[in-house]
Amino acid sequence: MNSCNKCRDSSVIELRYSGQSLCATCFIKLFEQRVRKTIRRNRFFNPGDKIAVALSGGKDSIVVLYLLKKLSKKFPDSRVFAITIDEGVRDRNFEIAKSICDQLGVEHHIFSFQKEFGVTLDEILEKSKNLENPAPPCSYCGVFRRYLLNKKARELGATKLATGHNLDDVVQTALMNFIRGDLKRFVWGISKDEKFVPRITPLRECPEEEVELYAQLFDLEVNPNSCIYREMSFRSIIGKIADSLEEKHPGTRFQILRSVDELGPIMRKSYESDKNRMKVNRCTICGELTSGTICKVCELRMELGIR
Ligand code: SF4
Ligand code: ZN
Repeated sequence: MNSCNKCRDSSVIELRYSGQSLCATCFIKLFEQRVRKTIRRNRFFNPGDKIAVALSGGKDSIVVLYLLKKLSKKFPDSRVFAITIDEGVRDRNFEIAKSICDQLGVEHHIFSFQKEFGVTLDEILEKSKNLENPAPPCSYCGVFRRYLLNKKARELGATKLATGHNLDDVVQTALMNFIRGDLKRFVWGISKDEKFVPRITPLRECPEEEVELYAQLFDLEVNPNSCIYREMSFRSIIGKIADSLEEKHPGTRFQILRSVDELGPIMRKSYESDKNRMKVNRCTICGELTSGTICKVCELRMELGIR
C-alpha cells in the first residue's frame, strides 16, 4: 500500500477519482468534512430539528445515524431518533439496528408491515404471483416502506427524515429515472405539504466503499446480510453498469451527481410553474398523500386483495 499523500503515514484507501491515497486519520477527516459540507449546503440540519433516521442496520443507515447523533450536539434543541421498518423478509433481522441505538443512546421505534398492513413482504410477493404482471419485490417493498416511514416519522414529530442513500444510490436512482423517462422524480421530495416529512441524504456525496471503510474504522457493527431480494431489482442491474463505468472512468459517479444537481433546480422551476403537475391530494381511502385520488399503497392493497 502507498503512503498517505497528506501526512506520509501508511494509507488505507486509494481514491481513484482524485488520485489520492489516504491514511485512516486523513480519510476520516475528509469523509466527515464532506458530510458536514453536504449538510450545510443543503440545510439538512437546523437548530430545533427532530430528525428521524430510517435505520435498516446496513452500513449506510448506521453511519448516518452515528454522524447525525454526533452532530446534533451542535444544534440546540435538536433530537435524532431512529425508525426501523421490518418488511417481513425471511432471514432478515434487526438486532444490529437495536444494538447501535442502545450504544448511542438513541430512541428506536420499530414498525412492521405485518402489524401495519396485515401482511409481510414475503406474503405480498406470494399474492403478487396471481397477478398478470407482478412487479419485482423491491417495487412493492419500496411503496409500502416509504409510506410507512413518512407516516410514522410525522406521527413521531420528525421535521426531517434521514436516509442512508450514498453516492452510488443517488447515481443509480438518477440513471433509473432517465431510463424510465421518469423525470418528475428529480423533483420528488420537495412537497411542502404538512403531511410530507422532507427527506435528507447526508451521505449523497460519499462513495459506497468509503462509507464501508468509515464504518470499519469506527468498529461500527453493521448487518452483513443484505436482503435476499436485492439481486432481483432493476437497481442492482443499473448498479453493475454504474460500477463498471466508474471502474473504467474513475470520477463518473461524481460527474453524474453534478448533472443531477444542475438538473434539479431547472426541473423544479418547470414543475412549479405548472400547478397541476405539482398538485398533492389526500388519498380518499387512507388520507395519506397522493398525486391522484387513491395512494399507491391503497391501490396495491386492493389489487393484491389485502384488507
Ligand atoms: Fe425491500 Fe428490495 Fe430493500 Fe429487500 S432489497 S428490503 S425487497 S427494497
Ligand atoms: Zn391510501
